[in-house]
Amino acid sequence: MSLQSFAQKQENPLLAEFNTPFGAPPFDKIGNNHFLPAIEEAIRVHKAEIETIVNNSAPPDFENTIVAFDRSGELLNTVNAIFGGLNGANTNPEMQEIAKKTTPLLSAHRNEIRFNQRLFDKIKNVFERRSGLGLDAEQSRLVEKMYDDFARNGATLPEAQRNELKAINDRLSMVSLQLSQHLLAENNGFKLVIDNPEDLAGLPPAVISAAADEAKAAGQEGKWVFTLAKPSWTPFLQFSERRHLREHLYRAYFMRGNNNNESDNKKLFTELMTLRQKMAELLGFQNYAEYFISDQMAQTPQNVYDFLYKVWEPSIVRAKNEKADMQAIIDREGKGFELESWDWWYYAERVRKEKYDLNEDELKPYLTLDNVREGVFRLTNQLFGLIYVKRTDVPVYHPEVEVFEVKDFDGSHLGLLMIDPHPRPGKRSGAWCGTYRNGTWKDGQKTAPIVTMVMNFTRPAGNQPALLSWDKTTTYFHEFGHALHNLFANGRYQRTSRSVPRDFVELPSQILENWAGEPELLKTYAFHYQTGEPMPDALIEKLQKSRYFNQGFDNTEYLAAAILDMDWHTSQVTGETDVNAFEKATLDRIGLIDEIIPRYRTTNFGHIFGSGYAAGYYVYRWAGVLDADAFAAFKESGDLYNQELAARFRKYILAENALYEGMDAYIKFRGKEPSIEAFLERSGLQ
Ligand SMILES: [Zn+2]
Repeated sequence: MSLQSFAQKQENPLLAEFNTPFGAPPFDKIGNNHFLPAIEEAIRVHKAEIETIVNNSAPPDFENTIVAFDRSGELLNTVNAIFGGLNGANTNPEMQEIAKKTTPLLSAHRNEIRFNQRLFDKIKNVFERRSGLGLDAEQSRLVEKMYDDFARNGATLPEAQRNELKAINDRLSMVSLQLSQHLLAENNGFKLVIDNPEDLAGLPPAVISAAADEAKAAGQEGKWVFTLAKPSWTPFLQFSERRHLREHLYRAYFMRGNNNNESDNKKLFTELMTLRQKMAELLGFQNYAEYFISDQMAQTPQNVYDFLYKVWEPSIVRAKNEKADMQAIIDREGKGFELESWDWWYYAERVRKEKYDLNEDELKPYLTLDNVREGVFRLTNQLFGLIYVKRTDVPVYHPEVEVFEVKDFDGSHLGLLMIDPHPRPGKRSGAWCGTYRNGTWKDGQKTAPIVTMVMNFTRPAGNQPALLSWDKTTTYFHEFGHALHNLFANGRYQRTSRSVPRDFVELPSQILENWAGEPELLKTYAFHYQTGEPMPDALIEKLQKSRYFNQGFDNTEYLAAAILDMDWHTSQVTGETDVNAFEKATLDRIGLIDEIIPRYRTTNFGHIFGSGYAAGYYVYRWAGVLDADAFAAFKESGDLYNQELAARFRKYILAENALYEGMDAYIKFRGKEPSIEAFLERSGLQ
């Protein structure tokens, strides 16, 4: 170690040993000035670790290559987890500037490793001899996955083709960035400005005041502005009595990127498709969907199509019934028009009031933040025997963060859980679960994970505790499911512990949402904060029934987009392909009705512009079917807390799932492949 880096370690708490309970990050000592030098130092250390592997003169073997590479980058992971976690939950302008500097540094560093041919040659050497090395199943899987990670990036190709792939990737990033920028420009480029108060007819006061704030921010004080952001356009479509304004706003929304202006996405999108096709072919796949899905639980595009069509059939039938219900209201009131896509939200609200009379304000007093937390603590205690002990000696980055030590059923330490519930400037919106440290094994010793749940739930006001809507309650259970996954993950190596396909990762989170609404559990946590009474049966019944509301529409608009995504990524697209004609052909084939527009149309399908959900938009419903089927196992057993099932769920789905292919892990838990029946029943689609 040089003198300079020795001095740095002395002063920089991110680089020093964490002298805290459970080795938690010393948040109280970390300042903005520590991040950049720590990240630079951690990258340098990681590079040195890779160099050591590559320059080792001993023949490559499982320990000196595979394990060494799997373990490398520990310091960088630690520093990144802390910086990334804080930048999401508690950022400031200085941290955002640091992120701008470190993002390109980190991506260059990752690329350098990904395309390190000398490193790959060593991994390949071990991979080719793996059957003779006496490896156990987990070790073999580690070698195979590691080899595959490089192969999927083109490492096995001759140099000329590797360069071609690199050129395609560079162009792909440009095109995908431009598509997103166009979409952003289209989002920001439209405003519905209302200056006549009569045109606010039907809108609730909170919606009107948000629109007034929007107008003020746009320099149009005294008027009302609605935008193409979801929290703005959705309530307008739900409540506005001005049909022509609903049409105007919704058209602007679904035509984004399709207006033949400077932000038009049609031409660029076909380029994106042809580039992905070329990339897939270079890597030995027929098309991009086959490439992406081969690494997923679904494994083949055909499996995804089969699945989507199975859910599509009952969904479209149900959507047509919903349409008839709404048309009946229009006719009854003598309005004399046919339902159109911009009417759906408005009349769905009317149906909601008539058929599913659930008032959120009636529910909320039973769902205090503390009640909900107790509910999930109780659930995981019943299922897995977990005990939560509040700790006040662990450093936190904000006084609202609560820390719990999670103890396993036998009293042993399982990990730390940090809960950061309320919004504040510097926290990004939404809810998520992350880790400040992953659970890892090293030389037979386990380092316990440090897990964090970050939410944006309204804080207490006056004498009223923080009250959650039903949606926020299930969000709490959802994120807690991710937390459990992080707490239980128990592979011996990083790659066999932490790496889960996209169409599997929402199973642990979504399954917990099922328990949230079960009367048996509700009665143990949903107590009125003033009277102490448990939630009444009539209210629970309404809550359960409300799950069926608008499910035909919800599934249909989602599935139409998912099928469109699959069609694009399994077709031979050229620069001449007519985007609108392609889209129409898909929607005609599946028999979508005119009153429903796909949740995203091609030119504004942000999920598939980047690589994250391309040929992967299906994963949301796929996970929905999995979690319904997995939960049905508990229901069928007649015991919501069935210990044997809970133990199998913990072992195969949460702790060791990365040791198996997704479907194999599932079958080990469930005893059979998932079926869609439980999902259809839960959504009232049967
Ligand atoms: Zn999730």
